Amino acid sequence: MSTVLVIGAGGVSSVAVHKMAMNADIFSDIHLASRTKSKCDSIAASVKQRTGRDVATYEIDAEEVPAMVNLIRKVRPSLVVNLALPYQDLPIMDACLEACVSYLDTANYEPKDEAKFEYHWQWAYHDRFKEAGLMALLGSGFDPGVTSVFTIWLKKHKLKTIRQLDILDCNGGDHGQAFATNFNPEINIREVTAPARHWENGEWVETPAMQIRTEFDFEGVGKKNAYLMYHEELESLAKFVPELERARFWMTFGDAYITHLTVLQAVGMTSIEPIKYQGRDIIPLQFLAAVLPKPESLGETTKGKTNIGVIATGEALDGSGEKTFYINNICDHEDAYEETGNQAVSYTTGVPAMIGSAMMLTGKWSGDGVFNMEQMDPDPFMEMLNAHGLPWKVEELDGPVEF
Ligand code: NDP
Repeated sequence: MSTVLVIGAGGVSSVAVHKMAMNADIFSDIHLASRTKSKCDSIAASVKQRTGRDVATYEIDAEEVPAMVNLIRKVRPSLVVNLALPYQDLPIMDACLEACVSYLDTANYEPKDEAKFEYHWQWAYHDRFKEAGLMALLGSGFDPGVTSVFTIWLKKHKLKTIRQLDILDCNGGDHGQAFATNFNPEINIREVTAPARHWENGEWVETPAMQIRTEFDFEGVGKKNAYLMYHEELESLAKFVPELERARFWMTFGDAYITHLTVLQAVGMTSIEPIKYQGRDIIPLQFLAAVLPKPESLGETTKGKTNIGVIATGEALDGSGEKTFYINNICDHEDAYEETGNQAVSYTTGVPAMIGSAMMLTGKWSGDGVFNMEQMDPDPFMEMLNAHGLPWKVEELDGPVEF
C-alpha cells in the first residue's frame, strides 16, 4: 500500500496512471502533477470513469526544484514517477534527493540545447542517492526498459553470453494523419534526426541518420523497412552486458513519414537552433511540434499493431553451442485505446512505467543508488508484463539473423 506522485500528463502518464489505478493493492494513493493542470484533471476524470478511483491533481513546473520539493513534502509519496520530458530528469532527481524520496523515469536526460541523450548525467547521481538510502530506476519504458529486461532475461534463462544483439521496434499502426509522431514530437524528431550509432567490438560506430535500413517480416504487421538508429538502451546494455560484440537498434518508418521528415529537415523545420521570427527567438522544432497532432489525440483513429523485441545470439546456457533467440511483444493499438484511451506507443511505455514502480514499491527491486533495468532480476517484471497487458513470447531461431 503506497502513495505515488506522477509528474507529466501526456499519453505515457495517462496509461501509467490508469494502470496504477487498476492495481489498488500496490498503488493505494495516486497523485498527478504537471505543467498544465487541466490535462491532469482529464486523466483523473477518465480514471474515475473507468476504475472508480480518485487521482489528486496539481499544477507544477518540474524544472522549479523548490516548488517540486514543496509538492513532494505535501504529498509524502514513497516514489516519484517522472513521465514528463527528458529535460526535467535532473531537476526532478534533485528534488527527490532534497525531499528524500525514490525516483523512476522512462527516458534519459537530454539537455535542451543539444540533441544528445546520454546516461552519464544521471549516473553521476549514484553516490548521492546511495548515501541518502534512496533508489533511482532509469528507463522503465519499453525501449529503453522492456528491451533491456528481455535481454537480461535471455541471459538468465537461455544464453551464458550474448555475442550479438539486435533490438527491433516496429510500429505498424496507421493513425490516418499525413504526418504525426506517436510520442512527444520534439523528443521523437530529435531522436530520429540524430546520427545513427551502434556498438561494435568495444566502440561506437557512427553513421548518418536514416541511411542504413533492412526489411524485416514482423508478426502481426508484415514486412517493414527498419532503419538503424541510436537508442539510449544501447549505452546501458554495452555497459552491463560487457561481452557484447555488436548491439544495434532498428526502428520502422513508413515511406510517407520519411518523405515528410526529409522535407521538414531540408527546409530547417527540425532545427533546435533559435531563429528570429517577428523580433522573437523561436526554435523551429518547437514550433513544428506545436502544429503537429498531439500524440494523445491519435488514439481514437490508430489501427494496427506494434511489435517490439530483441534478437540475441550467444553461447547457450546448457552448453549446446551457439543459439539465437527472439523475444518480443505484440500490442494492438485499438485494444490499448479501449482499455486506457491511449494508443499502443503510449501503452507500451506506460505499462512498464507502472510495473517498474510496482517493482520498487513492493521491494521486489531494491537498492541504494541509481540503477538501470539491466541490473535488476528480470523474472518478477516479466511476470507482470504477462499479467498486465504486454504478453511476450520467446522462440529459438535457426541461427543469427544477418541484416
Ligand atoms: P507528452 O509530450 O505527451 O507529455 C509530456 C508531459 O510532460 C506533458 O503533460 C507536459 O506538459 C509535461 N511537462 C513538460 N514540461 C514540464 C515541466 N517543466 N513541468 C511539468 N510537466 C511538464 O509525452 P509522452 O507522454 O509521449 O512521453 C513522456 C515521456 O516518456 C517522455 O520523456 C518520452 O521521452 C518518454 N518515452 C519513453 C519511451 C520508452 O519506451 N522508454 C517511449 C515513448 C516515450 P504540457 O501538457 O503542459 O505540455
